[in-house]
Amino acid sequence: MSNIADNIKNIQSKLEGTGASLIAVSKTKPVEMLKEAYDAGIRDFGENKVQEIRDKYPTLPKDIRWHMIGHLQTNKVKYIADKVYMIHSVDSYKLASEISKRALEANRVIPVLIEINIGDEESKFGIRPDELEELLKSINTLEGIKVSGLMCVAPYTDNAEDNRAYFKQMKQLSVDIMRKNIDNIDMSVLSMGMSGDFEVAAEEGSTYVRVGTSIFGERDYNTGM
Ligand SMILES: *Cc1c(COP(=O)(O)O)cnc(C)c1O
Repeated sequence: MSNIADNIKNIQSKLEGTGASLIAVSKTKPVEMLKEAYDAGIRDFGENKVQEIRDKYPTLPKDIRWHMIGHLQTNKVKYIADKVYMIHSVDSYKLASEISKRALEANRVIPVLIEINIGDEESKFGIRPDELEELLKSINTLEGIKVSGLMCVAPYTDNAEDNRAYFKQMKQLSVDIMRKNIDNIDMSVLSMGMSGDFEVAAEEGSTYVRVGTSIFGERDYNTGM
């Protein structure tokens, strides 16, 4: 078995019995490595760059579900509206409305998640928890998108337990919003947890963990691959 297949098996076994599914975050990694993950059973891949999705999409099997997990510029939505299964990183009305427009052109409904800056970090994208209700009430009439839940990138830490409180807050936020019964808003997806903290995230109610390094190894941004 390849390393990649081993790593996947190892992670899957840790997720067993939790409600969390694994998204393999393949950004910067060559398609050969994605194929190995595919052969090991992975169908959900996460990418954070529009260009990489455009490059990889045509060369890989069509039953892959591509998740856009990175910051998305409105002028690039048109390139991926027909390719992505879900967009995890919606944090403005402007972006939601552009996704709506391009989804309608592509004749589909795109599930989207609202990105929450749960650690209130200046370096991160996403909205504050107290901005969520207002954003939802402004985008819930848009056709072509279906708000399906929340996503966060928790603060970087060497100790996963440090993030447990943030994951609890995310879960509570989604429960609180669900209770408000806002039309056309669903909160069944919670996208949280990465290589360093996915087990804690799964314990706290994550439905998608996004794991890159623990599957594919460290990323090398210098070579472009
Ligand atoms: C890169 C990335 C991940 C995966 O991070 P790892 O630490 O490599 O597992 C998850 N989510 C987002 C949004 C990312 O950009």
